[in-house]
Amino acid sequence: MSYQTTPAQASVLTLEGCAVFDALPTAVLIFASDLILYANTVALQIFQADSKDQVLGESVHKFIYPLDQERVIARIRRAEKSNLINPPTEFRVYTCLHQVRVIALTSRTLMIDSHIGLVATFLDMTERCAMEKRLRDSDAQFQHLMNTMQDVFYRTDADGITRYVSASVRNVLGYSPDEIIGLPAAVFYPDQDNRKELVEVIKKQGYVRDFPGQMRCQDGRIIDISISSTILLDEMGQYAGVEGIWRDITERRTLERKLEQLASRDELTGIANRRFSLEEMGKRLSRYKRHQRDMSVCILDLDHFKRINDQHGHLVGDQVLLEFSVVVQSELRSTDHFGRLGGEEFLLICEDSSIENTSSLARRILQKVCDHPVAISSQTSIQVTVSIGATAVESSDSSISSILSRADNALYQAKSEGRNRICWFTEMLLRNEI
Ligand code: GH3
Ligand code: MG
Ligand code: MG
Repeated sequence: MSYQTTPAQASVLTLEGCAVFDALPTAVLIFASDLILYANTVALQIFQADSKDQVLGESVHKFIYPLDQERVIARIRRAEKSNLINPPTEFRVYTCLHQVRVIALTSRTLMIDSHIGLVATFLDMTERCAMEKRLRDSDAQFQHLMNTMQDVFYRTDADGITRYVSASVRNVLGYSPDEIIGLPAAVFYPDQDNRKELVEVIKKQGYVRDFPGQMRCQDGRIIDISISSTILLDEMGQYAGVEGIWRDITERRTLERKLEQLASRDELTGIANRRFSLEEMGKRLSRYKRHQRDMSVCILDLDHFKRINDQHGHLVGDQVLLEFSVVVQSELRSTDHFGRLGGEEFLLICEDSSIENTSSLARRILQKVCDHPVAISSQTSIQVTVSIGATAVESSDSSISSILSRADNALYQAKSEGRNRICWFTEMLLRNEI
């Protein structure tokens, strides 16, 4: 074999000398005037040729995939004119078994038996291309999912900075991902404690499922969200952030609130109903046990209400109940709880209120009810009065029933003393008079 290279000239090779390429682990092909003169063992394998005869003497055109013909032949023509290494290019070829394969080929001119030819080496890229296509397809599917889903996928780092958010965020918050990525996630939480609590729970138990929260949209609306996320840890096992999804549940929460409202409100007066009031009393009793701050409970019962119904009809009775509840509410603090226990009986809970304070509130209520007769026609109005039984909550109270029973006893006392008054429960009352 004579094999020489000079800078100015193409390499020089003889066909017999090519036998040395048979041992190479990469495919080698030599062709001149587009006719294949030599193919080594690996090249024959890639072309799925049983023997050299299937390839040698054939035109390279026969093997190049039609859609890639023009581009590849143009490169061959260019390569023939220069002595430079033709940079690698990928194209499709037909094998002898009519399969399509992708090869990555690089070539260079040479003199072969005094003809100008090209020596090409190439690799079978079919598998890699198929893999890349699979990756591209699955990436495209993932992006499609991210764009269209209603859930928002996100990732924040250890500092709470958003590092990724799916395009679907635009459907929910109105912001594009670019407007969110790089900013602290907390910026979009109207309640900072909510976000802090979320991160604390995730750090503690490693995940959250359906954690309730709220977010502020670009147009200023506050939406209810439900968050399901898991903790991210770095190689050292240190907290590295949070990853998960959240979804807009505003519609569901609005409905739930409406249902809660319906279930806890008295239909006629709109104030808390019996069930909600007793629950509220239980909660406030627990609070009292923790903080031991003065608390009193009153039962208010309209006087001779049956007479009103009997004389003016049930609808007027309803009007009296409604107006009574409005009058009482106008005297209350935001921390007082007022609800309807049933019929013409109401519950008033005064938290952080001494006996003196509650007494003065009760007196104001008695006065205001007296001052506001209920007008049932342009000429007629009904004078209404109310009796109030009151008791202070005591540290020995373990349930609401003992408190209610004391208030009830005091109410009984108020009624028997002539109505339109407040009576406080005292032990003496219990021992001597009931
Ligand atoms: P007292 O001064 O002793 O409390 O007498 P009272 O007439 O107010 O008490 P009583 O318990 O005898 O009567 C209460 C009446 O309230 C009887 C019932 O028909 C009426 N009532 C209960 N619920 C409603 C309601 O929702 N609307 C109306 N209009 N009346 C109701
Ligand atoms: Mg009554
Ligand atoms: Mg009653």
